[in-house]
Amino acid sequence: MEKFDIGIVGAGPGGYSAALAAATNGKKVVLFEKENIGGVCLNKGCIPTKSILHVSELYKKVKNIEIFGISVSDVSFDFSKVIERKNKTIETLRKGIELALKNAKVTVIKAEAEILDKNTIKANNEVFDCNEIICANGSSPKELKGLEFDHKFILSSDDILELETLPKNILIVGSGAIGIEWARILSNFGVEVTLIEIAPHLLPLADIEVSKRIERSFKSAKIKFLTDTGIQKVENGSVQLSDGNILTPQKILAATGRVPNCDHKIEGITYIGDAAGEIQLAHYAIKQAYDKTLNICYRKDLIPSVVYGTPEIAWVGKREQDLENEDYQKSIQLVSALGKAQADGETEGFIKLLVQNNKIVGAHIMCAEASSLLMQVVIAMQNNIDLDNLKEICFAHPTYSEGIFEAIQKLA
Ligand SMILES: Cc1cc2nc3c(=O)[nH]c(=O)nc-3n(C[C@H](O)[C@H](O)[C@H](O)COP(=O)(O)OP(=O)(O)OC[C@H]3O[C@@H](n4cnc5c(N)ncnc54)[C@H](O)[C@@H]3O)c2cc1C
Repeated sequence: MEKFDIGIVGAGPGGYSAALAAATNGKKVVLFEKENIGGVCLNKGCIPTKSILHVSELYKKVKNIEIFGISVSDVSFDFSKVIERKNKTIETLRKGIELALKNAKVTVIKAEAEILDKNTIKANNEVFDCNEIICANGSSPKELKGLEFDHKFILSSDDILELETLPKNILIVGSGAIGIEWARILSNFGVEVTLIEIAPHLLPLADIEVSKRIERSFKSAKIKFLTDTGIQKVENGSVQLSDGNILTPQKILAATGRVPNCDHKIEGITYIGDAAGEIQLAHYAIKQAYDKTLNICYRKDLIPSVVYGTPEIAWVGKREQDLENEDYQKSIQLVSALGKAQADGETEGFIKLLVQNNKIVGAHIMCAEASSLLMQVVIAMQNNIDLDNLKEICFAHPTYSEGIFEAIQKLA
C-alpha cells in the first residue's frame, strides 16, 4: 500500500488548492476526483455562469450601443456559440490546474473515493494510506419539497447549463446570488423572467439598502419579481404561488441553495469548502485550504461576497441591519457623480461605508467594477487602517475608486 502525507477527496477550489499548497511545500499528496478537475466552481458554477453572463451583457450593450454614437444593425446571438465559448473557457482553465498539479507532483486519481477512517481512503478497489485526510467533496443543489428537480421542467443550477436553446420564459425560485445572476443572464438574452423570493426583499443576505436598490434595478431592467412569495404547488406544468397567482412557465429554475455532499462527518478528518457547510464560496474554500495546509490564517468576518451582473454587487463586513442597536456612521456616494462612471455610461449604483470608532466595519458596493473595488476596502479593514489614514491615500482620477475616497471624505 502506497503511503501519502495527505489524501484529499474532491478537486474543486478547496481540494486542488490544498493539494497544490501541500505538494509545493514538500508533502506527498494524493488527490481524488470523480468528475472533473476544478469542481463545481470551474465546471458548473462560478466560471460557466460568468462566461455566459459576460456574453449576455455584451449582447445587451451592443443592442443599446446607439447611446455611444455607434450604429450597428441586425444584432443577434447564437446560443450554441455562447455555450461553445463557455466550454472552451472551462477547458483552458482546467488544463491550467491539471498542469499545475502535475508540476507539483500531486498524484491525481480520477475515481470516486470513499473515506474509510481517518487514515484510509478507498478508490478503484485500492486502499490508500494517508497520514492526514482532507475532505473537500463540495455540495449539491438543494431540492425543496414539491419542487424536486425533474431536470426537464424543474431545473437545478447544473441543469440550466445543459440547455441547448433558451426558453421564452422562466420562473426562477430564490433570489440568492445564483437566482439573481441567472435572472440577469436570461433577461439580457430576451427571456421573460419572473423571480420569486420567500423573504421580504431580493438578495436577503445583503445589506437592506443593496436589496432595495437591486429591486429598483430589476424594475428598470423589466425583470419581474415577487417578494414574500413562495410556491404552493406545481402540477402539470402550472405553478400555484403562495399569493394565489397561477403561472405556466416553460421552465423553472430552482435556485434554493446547496447542501454539503458529506452526510456524516468522520472524526479526525478535516472538512473544507462547501463540504464544511459554512460559507459556500470558492474563495472561502481556497482560504480554508491554505489555512489547513500552510497555517495561513484568515479573518472569517472579512470574507467578501460578490453577485455578478450589471451593475456588480459586492460587500464585506457588517450590514446596516446588523448595527441597529449600535452607534455607527454611514456614508453613501452615488457613482453617477464620478467622472469615470459618466464617461463609461455606467452610472447606476452606489458605494456605502459603515464606520465605527473611526474604522470601516462594513462596505456595500453596487456599481461597475464593484468586485475589484471592494478589495481595496477589505485590505484596509484587514490591516486596521483607520479613516485618517485612508484620507491620506491619493486615489487616481478618473476611477471608480474615487467613489471610495468621496465616501471617506464625507465622514467626520
Ligand atoms: C451556479 C453557481 C455559481 C457560483 N458562483 C460563484 C461565484 O461567483 N463565486 C464564488 O465564490 N462561488 C460561487 N459558487 C460557489 C462555488 O462554486 C463553491 O463554493 C465552490 O465550488 C466550493 O468549492 P469546493 O472545493 O468546496 O467544492 P466543489 O467545487 O463542489 O468541488 C468538490 C469536488 O469533489 C468531487 N467529489 C465529490 N465527492 C467525491 C468523491 N466521493 N470522490 C471523489 N471526488 C468527489 C466533486 O466531483 C467535485 O468536483 C457558485 C456555485 C454555483 C452552483
